[in-house]
Amino acid sequence: MHRQLKDISIVIPCLNEAACIVTLYKELSQVLAPYSCPYELLFVDDGSTDNTLDVLSVIAQTDKRVHWVSLSRNFGYQKALKAGLDAAKGHIVITMDADMQHPPTVIPQMLELWLEGYDVVNTVRKENSTSSSFKRITSRLFYRIMNALSDVQIPEGGADFRLLDAKAVHALQNCHEDFLFLRGMTVWIGFRQTQIAYQANARYAGQTKYPFKKMFSFALCGVTSFSVRPLRWAIGLAGFFALLSIGEILYAIYVACFTSQGVSGWASLAILVSMLGSTILLMLGIIGEYLGKLFMQCKQRPEYIIKEQCIKDTL
Ligand code: UDP
Ligand code: MG
Repeated sequence: MHRQLKDISIVIPCLNEAACIVTLYKELSQVLAPYSCPYELLFVDDGSTDNTLDVLSVIAQTDKRVHWVSLSRNFGYQKALKAGLDAAKGHIVITMDADMQHPPTVIPQMLELWLEGYDVVNTVRKENSTSSSFKRITSRLFYRIMNALSDVQIPEGGADFRLLDAKAVHALQNCHEDFLFLRGMTVWIGFRQTQIAYQANARYAGQTKYPFKKMFSFALCGVTSFSVRPLRWAIGLAGFFALLSIGEILYAIYVACFTSQGVSGWASLAILVSMLGSTILLMLGIIGEYLGKLFMQCKQRPEYIIKEQCIKDTL
């Protein structure tokens, strides 16, 4: 199959990224300049409290290829990306972060793979020292657990820096999940996929918007979005404790019938009770997590709300 380059949309979610946007805009313009096809840069302001929106407005006034969508509050990284995917008009859509950690220089490689016939080009971060070792270890742990538990396999070090063909974008637009986990969804939708490795830069300016607490809930969302396996743990654990209690009963009978002592050992009883108690609570927590998701989803609220937007008819 031979393809010809068509119009390109670059989707960039921004939360308080005023210090990064101009540099990113300049670099993207430079990378895309040699291509003859039209392109648009679509920034999604995810409820920033700095002057991100002012910076975007100024750039959009001077360059008709720059558009922005501003959400009514902070809806989170994944929702901001979804808002961008919904508004993107290109035949090829590339999503990337605003902080220059996703180098624009990788884009030509992605386009090359699209020309070869791939519909989704994922990226994986090469191990490097720009991210803290804590983040690297927790990230590796997360992908191991996620892939062991869930039905879709996500490459370790996967990032939301990817190219999507319009077909794949359309499939994602039709997914209205309240707890969106795009790294899993893009694998789940299928199509011809490939991946490339990139060297992540250090964040250009500002700070990470993903502290540990947010990363933890993102990871939990990932696991519970793609697997119901944790719910089955209850069955396994129930079997384990049933066997244990049968053992205890047999032991108690033996002690009562064949020895002169009564059943001693409140310690073993206390241990068993507290083990059972914590396991039941754990399973209740897991069930609660899924139930909560169901509750949020059944309300069918819009995934995000747009406050203002500046989308021009350039593509
Ligand atoms: N971001 C967003 N909404 C959020 C958090 C982050 O739009 O609630 C954007 C942020 O501006 C950046 C990208 O998502 O462009 C990735 O965030 P960040 O670089 O802080 O995450 P990290 O690279 O540290 O994991
Ligand atoms: Mg970043």
